[in-house]
Order: sequence, then structure tokens, then C-alpha cells
Amino acid sequence: MKTVKIKETREEIAIGKVICVGRNYAEHAKEMGNEVPEEFPIIFLKTATCMINSGENVVHPLYSQNLHHEIELVLLIGKTVKNADEAEAKESIIAYAVGLDMTLRDLQFASREKGDPWTLAKVFDTSGVLSEFVLKEQYKINGSEKIVLKVNNTVKQSTTLNTMLFNPVEIVKNISARMTLEKGDLIFTGTPAGVSKVVRGDKLSGYIENIGNIETTII
Ligand code: MG
Repeated sequence: MKTVKIKETREEIAIGKVICVGRNYAEHAKEMGNEVPEEFPIIFLKTATCMINSGENVVHPLYSQNLHHEIELVLLIGKTVKNADEAEAKESIIAYAVGLDMTLRDLQFASREKGDPWTLAKVFDTSGVLSEFVLKEQYKINGSEKIVLKVNNTVKQSTTLNTMLFNPVEIVKNISARMTLEKGDLIFTGTPAGVSKVVRGDKLSGYIENIGNIETTII
């Protein structure tokens, strides 16, 4: 069973559903050739078995020639919530982490063209990298935090969390209107502009200010 680690505690929580938001930053939607969504953006899933911790390696699948990095703020849900209002949504988020939603862009574009689901572009072992989680009791996000991803020390993605189209509370409200969220569920909140191809040997490092750091090597 895969678990998340929480900073400064010994608690480990089993990972449940891993829900990902697509197109939650306007500049990234545009760089992918998509319209900036006016309604709630795309939702897709990854599996708990895909998740690894910062410091472990991402294994590049042999069947893809275009692996991309996507750095994201990740939310940890701490209680069962359905049809959450603003207050319930806020309360259900108990911790934050930095995550990488590694994506096989060639498979994603091919499925999109055929009108097929993107599952295999997003779900492969090691496709989700997680830092330790910081409890909300210890740090509350205010939006001004920088989110930055470097490949081999060159900055590729850099913005602040308040450039998200939908903030964490709005995201939880919207998702919980469609499916029950439970303790241990993770939500990847979408990636800013600057996604790019990585190859074996590349070293990725990133951070969200006051939340944490993440690093991995592509092998
Ligand atoms: Mg993503």
C-alpha cells in the first residue's frame, strides 16, 4: 500500500484516489493548444501505485518518445466530503505537497486525436512524484507562493500559485459535487506553463515556497 509522509509527524496516510486537474493555468492551456476553460477544467485520475517519493527515480517507459514534467501543488484530503460547500471544502484539505504529474505527451496527443481516454499517457509506474506533506495547521497557502521547476538546473516552469484559474477550495467543491472524496485522496491541481520534454539522465528539481522541495532523476 502506498502512503504519504507528513512533515514533522510519524503519521503515514494510505493514498486513496489520485485526482488530477487539467488546464488550471491559462498560459499552460494555451501552450497545449487548448482554450482557456471558463467552466471547471478537465479531471482525470492516476493510481496510487504510480506514486513515488521525492528522491526516487522516474522510469521512462520504452513505449514513449516524449515524457514531460508537470509540477503541481498537491492537496491531501483528510475527511469524507460530498457536495462540499465553501467551508466544508476548506476544512477537508488537511495538507499540501509538491508533486510531479509526469506525462507521456505523445500518447496523450494520439489519444486526444482519436477521441480516446488519456489513461495510458498519465498512468504508468513512477508517473507521480510527491514531496512530504505540510499540514495546513502548520502553513496556510495564501497564493503568493512561487512554484518552480528546473531541469538540469535550468528553470522551465515558474509562476505563483495565485495564477491558478480555480483555487484549492473551488477545486474540492467542484470535484466533490461529482464524486465522494475521502481521507487519503490526493488532488493534483494542474501545472503552469513551461512543460517540456525530458530524457534519461535528466535531473529535475523544484519547489513550492514554504511547502517543500522535490527532486528526481529520469532513468
Ligand atoms: Mg498535470
